[in-house]
Amino acid sequence: MSAAALERRAFHDFVAGYQRFLLTTHVNPDGDGLGSEVAVAQWLRAMGKTAHSLNDSLVPAAYLFLTREETLETFEPELAERRLGECDAVIVLDTSNRQRIGRLAPFLDRFPLPIAVVDHHVSHAGFGKVNVIEPEASSTGEIVYDLIRESGAALTPVIAEALYVALMTDTGSFRYSNTDSHAHRMAAELLSHGLDPQKIHAQVHSHASAGRLRFFGEVLSRLELLEGGRLVVLEASPEQFQMHGLSGSDTEGLVDMPRSIAGVDVVALFSEVEPGKVKVSLRSTGRIAIDQVCARLGGGGHPHAAGVLLRGTRAEARARVLPDLAQRIAAGGATLAGDGREPAVARASRMPSERAWEEGA
Ligand code: 5GP
Ligand code: MN
Repeated sequence: MSAAALERRAFHDFVAGYQRFLLTTHVNPDGDGLGSEVAVAQWLRAMGKTAHSLNDSLVPAAYLFLTREETLETFEPELAERRLGECDAVIVLDTSNRQRIGRLAPFLDRFPLPIAVVDHHVSHAGFGKVNVIEPEASSTGEIVYDLIRESGAALTPVIAEALYVALMTDTGSFRYSNTDSHAHRMAAELLSHGLDPQKIHAQVHSHASAGRLRFFGEVLSRLELLEGGRLVVLEASPEQFQMHGLSGSDTEGLVDMPRSIAGVDVVALFSEVEPGKVKVSLRSTGRIAIDQVCARLGGGGHPHAAGVLLRGTRAEARARVLPDLAQRIAAGGATLAGDGREPAVARASRMPSERAWEEGA
């Protein structure tokens, strides 16, 4: 049995071995983290277990519709104390290291609970007792989908909707290079549960304020083209965030836009949300792997989308990131063969559940 299959089996044993679960995901959660949480919680409850979800951050407006059927709680010290006190095991979703859990992380140190991690990030600390980490998966939701089907449990409309949100958001609506045949088959199966993809898309993507668009306009109008047009740099200042009444999560989508400029390899966004705290977001158009640039500085991510939070000024952050990027761009993407993902065929050949599914099991 492959290492991945063994780890999945360990996860099923983990789930079978406990009764009361606490689920969590990373700070500033996205559709993948939240959708995976909702799906896992509903699945556990259908098995007669107890499940609560507690996150560092509030559920962003774009994902509030996911809380119609499933409560997603936000960190408060007393609540964390209570939830950790009343569970036997923790499942961490879509989170590559302990710190990214946010304010819940120090509480986990105090409560020696067994942890299972389900994630698809490349640079991974593997901080659980069980670690289902599959970087070739488009999203954590895709792994959760496989796990639920392997368990023989039924997909309900609520689970299907949550997993569709996870898959749709992490693949950039089926546009990024992590969109493969498995992702599309999964989408087809989820849609057969009566989902309305147009409505889900509208729910996720109709929450921008006018201020957010003006802010995007300002930042984009000052974009810099470096390294002969291969590197785009964007900067956002604390004053801009303040003037438009925005927070760090409002930059979502901004760094992706300059990928459409012809000839661009990498986009780097330096957002100084508060003075002295610079969130670096990197995106690659496919030729250069950029996750190591962030991992080296304490962050992480995927070959084509990575990030790190740096202390200091924007100028200091630029000095720590841009020379490394320039070097990788000059080296011509030698670090990333093809588009950095294994072909869909390779994935299918080592996903027992997928083969079973194709055979109609
Ligand atoms: P974004 O730029 O959208 O915030 O993040 C892009 C990718 O990098 C996501 O997969 C996210 O999980 C990862 N990432 C972003 N910031 C950090 C960070 O501070 N630490 C780690 N380990 N990963 C990050
Ligand atoms: Mn994800």
